[in-house]
Amino acid sequence: MTKKILFLGVQGSGKSTQGRLLAQFLGLPYISTGDIFRAMTGEIKQILSQGKLVDDQTTSKIVEEKLREEEYSNGFVLDGYPRTMEQIKLFDPDFDKVIYLDLSDEEATKRLLARVREDDTAELIAERLRNYHKQTNPVLDYYRQKKILKQVDGLGSIEAIQQKIRDAVNG
Ligand code: AMP
Repeated sequence: MTKKILFLGVQGSGKSTQGRLLAQFLGLPYISTGDIFRAMTGEIKQILSQGKLVDDQTTSKIVEEKLREEEYSNGFVLDGYPRTMEQIKLFDPDFDKVIYLDLSDEEATKRLLARVREDDTAELIAERLRNYHKQTNPVLDYYRQKKILKQVDGLGSIEAIQQKIRDAVNG
């Protein structure tokens, strides 16, 4: 059975909602780098408020240490790591499946503006989408080449998308 699952998708694609549902369904822990960083203070908080990515060294170290905890020894659903090729080189969690929730920038922006979060101004959203494509598209290609990437359309009801994800994980 598939145990180590990664969720990728632009902010607003629904990856945390869908990741949590899948984790619950599979009886695996859900872990999100965004949640980890949002709970941090100081320099990291500053980086997030600018819509930038946390540096690769720091990110990989935090994720590697976290995944070493007993709770994650039987597998996990990870949301948000790796976001760059450098992060894969620094620490590769060796995923069984990668789910890419595909959503247009236009739709993602619409959704993000509808929720009220401190780091969700129109300017920061645009900056994050730009960064996302520039840095994460090579990561998608990498997993596509490894033939473990499953692309799922992010448009539709939560239930319908979750079903497609479950099918993709099994297929
Ligand atoms: P998210 O909730 O996934 O949109 O992440 C929120 C913020 O956390 C991002 O805008 C980044 O600043 C930071 N972050 C999350 N995951 C990573 C990562 N893998 N590498 C660098 N920064 C990250």
